[in-house]
Amino acid sequence: MSAKITRIANLDIVVGWDEADRRHVYLEGADLVFTGNEITHVGPAFAGKSDGVIDGKGLMALPGFINLHSHPFSEPANKGLTEEFGSDKLGQSSLYEYLPVFGLDPEDAGPSTRVAMSELLKSGVTTIADLSITRDGWLDDLARSGIRAVVAPMMRQGYWFTRNGHTVEYNWDDKAGEKAFGAAMKTVDAALAHPSGRLSAMVCPSQIDTCKEGFFREALQEARTRRIPMQTHACQAIVEFHEMVRRHGKTPVEWLDAIGVLGPDLIIGHGIFLSDHPQIRWPHADDFARLRSSGAAVAHCPTVFARRGMALNTIGRYRDAGIPVGIGTDTFPHNMVDEMRLACYVARVMAGNYKMGTTRHVFEAATVGGAAILRRPDLGKLQPGCKADFSLVDLSHPYMQPAHEPVRSLIYSASERAIRDVYIDGTPVVKDGKVLTLDVESDTAGLIEGQRKRLATVNKRDWAGRTADQLAPPVYATRERLPQSRPVT
Ligand SMILES: [Zn+2]
Repeated sequence: MSAKITRIANLDIVVGWDEADRRHVYLEGADLVFTGNEITHVGPAFAGKSDGVIDGKGLMALPGFINLHSHPFSEPANKGLTEEFGSDKLGQSSLYEYLPVFGLDPEDAGPSTRVAMSELLKSGVTTIADLSITRDGWLDDLARSGIRAVVAPMMRQGYWFTRNGHTVEYNWDDKAGEKAFGAAMKTVDAALAHPSGRLSAMVCPSQIDTCKEGFFREALQEARTRRIPMQTHACQAIVEFHEMVRRHGKTPVEWLDAIGVLGPDLIIGHGIFLSDHPQIRWPHADDFARLRSSGAAVAHCPTVFARRGMALNTIGRYRDAGIPVGIGTDTFPHNMVDEMRLACYVARVMAGNYKMGTTRHVFEAATVGGAAILRRPDLGKLQPGCKADFSLVDLSHPYMQPAHEPVRSLIYSASERAIRDVYIDGTPVVKDGKVLTLDVESDTAGLIEGQRKRLATVNKRDWAGRTADQLAPPVYATRERLPQSRPVT
């Protein structure tokens, strides 16, 4: 049986890829045709035979978004908790005092992952780099959702803790690290061999400050053997910057370089705190130049840092310098379009210059930029030969109006509300804004229950025995009743 040919006819707009100019372009009144899971025609009316025709009137076809960095196994359960803190000495990051006490139990990771997937799919994400803890059922969850996933099982040797709320300490356990390494590589190989054809992998030593030099080198070797990238968290906290300087006399970027892992095989999630960052201002290094000449890439996730008053300096500056940058959602909400809008705005505020976070910087980072970092030239663009991963935007949606400049209307106004259908590998996964592949209602119930369970025991894990409400005070106090008073006259 030959692959089915599907023609989406007469789309108002297609954001197609012009290979000669190496940029996206608008095509008006165009057809998008795919055969099986591959795009075979983008352009004026398709004259060949097709097995099915979809009316493209009133729609815009967009390349699927690439989410380069996310933690769906746990982040959805931090909603309502990590946006604002009640303990502020380590408040510039939730990593040290909060994640160890709030993070979900591993058995509740399934519903959390599936809820995140459903939100990501609805916001037009067709490829995700999923940085999670290895667990049974993980690959099945991803495969079932229909998403294209780069599985990144996190592994480390050291664990953060604090016993006073202002000093970060590390509990080292090389044996546990070795065990996690073995389990992670098994998961990597299972993903690479997965029958869906939509799963691949990257090697992921979790964080620069929780893995030692040998561990990083070995991880890189495993990545190179399999011709896959490696991703780690680095330059993600002011605490981490100073910890690396204290340990090694080197900035995080200098240390990665010194141990031989800073290069084109490395993706740095988040790459913010370079020596010249305004919140670091460390005169004894030139991290930006070192990063630029290394070929290493950066996964930029603005939301989780904007919450703490921090930002990359800046996506425009990095991309203009030739540093490969992709966009990741990292935390909740799992909404790629919101993330893209914030990426534009934080860059402009950070630079005091609206040219440092243009729609093009960000749209390209979220499509071809992320795809190139994942070594997937067949993703992130609509062009014959690419995978049929795309979304259809309803140009007549009220929030798109006036749809004078449709990509701007989507990113700055309508967001995921106007994304009607999403296709991955030529198969619809979202139709009329509804996810077809997952039972969102039952997974949401599971997520709520997982968070409730975890919050009940927060005081047992917190160094000071505090409750969830003390650690993350509610916006308003709860009262049984208001004081008796006369009505305002
Ligand atoms: Zn992360």
